[in-house]
Amino acid sequence: MTVLADRFGRIATDLRVSLTDRCNLRCTYCMPAEGLAWMPQPQQLTDDEVKRLVRIAVEQLGVTEVRFTGGEPLIRRGLVSIIAEAARLDPRPKLSVTTNGIGLDRIAAPLRDAGLDRVNVSLDTLDPARFHTLTLRDRHADVLTGLRAAVTAGLTPVKINTVLMRGVNDDEAPALLRFALDHGYQLRFIEQMPLDAQHQWDRREMVTAEEILAALAPFGLQPDNVSRGTAPAETWLIPGHVDAAGEPARVGVIASVTRPFCGDCDRTRLTADGQVRNCLFATEESDLRKLLRDGATDSQIADAWRVAMWGKRAGHGIDDPAFLQPVRPMSAIGG
Ligand code: SAM
Repeated sequence: MTVLADRFGRIATDLRVSLTDRCNLRCTYCMPAEGLAWMPQPQQLTDDEVKRLVRIAVEQLGVTEVRFTGGEPLIRRGLVSIIAEAARLDPRPKLSVTTNGIGLDRIAAPLRDAGLDRVNVSLDTLDPARFHTLTLRDRHADVLTGLRAAVTAGLTPVKINTVLMRGVNDDEAPALLRFALDHGYQLRFIEQMPLDAQHQWDRREMVTAEEILAALAPFGLQPDNVSRGTAPAETWLIPGHVDAAGEPARVGVIASVTRPFCGDCDRTRLTADGQVRNCLFATEESDLRKLLRDGATDSQIADAWRVAMWGKRAGHGIDDPAFLQPVRPMSAIGG
């Protein structure tokens, strides 16, 4: 096996697969109220094509972890069967889903039975009215139900992803952490990145990791000595609290903008239309769908994937004056 290496010595073992660019929320920091021009169905990989690419990644390229995302992955009809197929691979990869939680109450048990290991659920506010303002949908209760269902199904540890925005929900950091501690969820704050479809991101408006940590000061956070490895979240211990597994409770901050971790990046990304992206912020993609549909062999596809990763840049370059936001928004890349 020849792995997914790049010129800077990094090896990608963590695959993020976007299963659709569609979403049932309209988070204002992600896409416009009217939605986007969705990917035409024929351009989207079929379930069998997704399964094949995941198999190639695991069997031929050394991928050990697969996260399914979107758009909203729970609206992809074939999700359970895609997970089941991935769980049958040898070596079996770790399998997770990043979701807004809507509908998770119905599908959590089938996903677990298919082999899903855990979920990340996105939740930016505890206030239903604010949730509506932020997402333009009245589904707050559904997300909370989804979170509980994930725990009941054993898709643990259940992680919550939160993006704080100034003047919108940045006053909720302590309450969100208290909520997570009370329910045994692991909370991770994500710095807002320039990946919105509207291109309205403004660095000066972004809530920084430093501000988030200052807001959490009353919890007396302690440095976490467990090595972070290639994980994007820097974690802190919360004295006096344990998680659902009896381990010391932790909170994470993914400071992609102010404390980039590109040097440790181990991710490779596949969009719902079969394009490999070697970085969230890549401006170029490699077309595996064309190869698939032109009848390429597994080893030809694996070779193209290796070439795509070899070209990965040293860093995302957000601080570079020449930085250009990728054309594809987060919802079409897969967060
Ligand atoms: N629909 C699923 C969900 O809600 O988790 C998966 C896709 S969503 C794009 C994945 C994550 O990306 C969510 O936690 C969302 O808050 C986050 N996200 C979206 N736009 C972002 C941005 N510009 N910067 C940072 N995170 C963002």
